[in-house]
Amino acid sequence: MKWMRWLWAANLLLLLALLLGLARLGTRKRALVPAAAGTRATTGGAPGIPPSRTPTAFLPSTPRTPTPFPSQTPLPPSATPVPVVTIPLPPALHPIIIGRSVEGRPLEVYRFGSGADVRLIVAGIHGGNEWNTIALADQLIDYLRRHPDTVPASQTLFILRNLNPDGEARAHGVDGRVNANGVDLNRNWPYRWQAEWDLDGCWQYRPVTAGTAPASEPETAALIAFIQTWQPTALISYHSAALGVFAGGLPDFPPSMRLAETLASAGGYAYPPLNTGCDYTGNLTDWASSVMGIPAVDIELTNHEDTDFEQNLRVLDAFLQWQP
Ligand SMILES: [Zn+2]
Repeated sequence: MKWMRWLWAANLLLLLALLLGLARLGTRKRALVPAAAGTRATTGGAPGIPPSRTPTAFLPSTPRTPTPFPSQTPLPPSATPVPVVTIPLPPALHPIIIGRSVEGRPLEVYRFGSGADVRLIVAGIHGGNEWNTIALADQLIDYLRRHPDTVPASQTLFILRNLNPDGEARAHGVDGRVNANGVDLNRNWPYRWQAEWDLDGCWQYRPVTAGTAPASEPETAALIAFIQTWQPTALISYHSAALGVFAGGLPDFPPSMRLAETLASAGGYAYPPLNTGCDYTGNLTDWASSVMGIPAVDIELTNHEDTDFEQNLRVLDAFLQWQP
């Protein structure tokens, strides 16, 4: 009976050895398949990389060489990191997303040209109440795609087509003016910001706030970061309707006044604008001029319907020709 026990033990040992051998072969085979990224974790590869992450996603789709068994080729400390692949796309066709609205809609900027002198056009700060400014921005983007030579080689022109997409999605009309937090985005800037303002001469068809604090809104914060990064030398913020062209800056900022005069005469708009007695606290162009030193203007389209496209093609030319 004793010899039977020994035979059983020997058999078991043999089986164990066989299983171990098979298991090793299996891992080795799997390690040679580059697409099966999850195996890196099972073979004790790069620590800290969760199994769900696919490293090959950052690699070019050009010929893939099998990934060697990780433990056999440790990366030397001086190894160059895998470059993030940037696919060269025509910039005007694909917007840069500079941030998101309260409800998560993208804030899209289109780029034309690549010169060092950066110019910026912002539309839709008052959302659906001034949806024709967004329609104008889209017309200008379309025009510039077909006529890229409009932008001089020394310049980069950015067009932010809609700073308040939540407002625009809600309604075309007075109900589309504020963002999803009920904030007037042109009252939310960190210069002369006031929670409450004197309503005399100001827009007051619906409840509206200036936000809980300066730059409390994601739309404002995204545009501030963008402006601080790119440092534009001139800025237009489009509105409607009817009041003319406002020069940013308080106290008066002469470069904004020069820009306002030039653009008003090119587009046939009023400058100085119609004064309704409203104090525009915490607005974008005052912040741009008085804090950032950027010549900036608000241009009001003629009404709430038309884009004044021909007028604003002339404004665009004058804007690009204008020297700060
Ligand atoms: Zn407006």
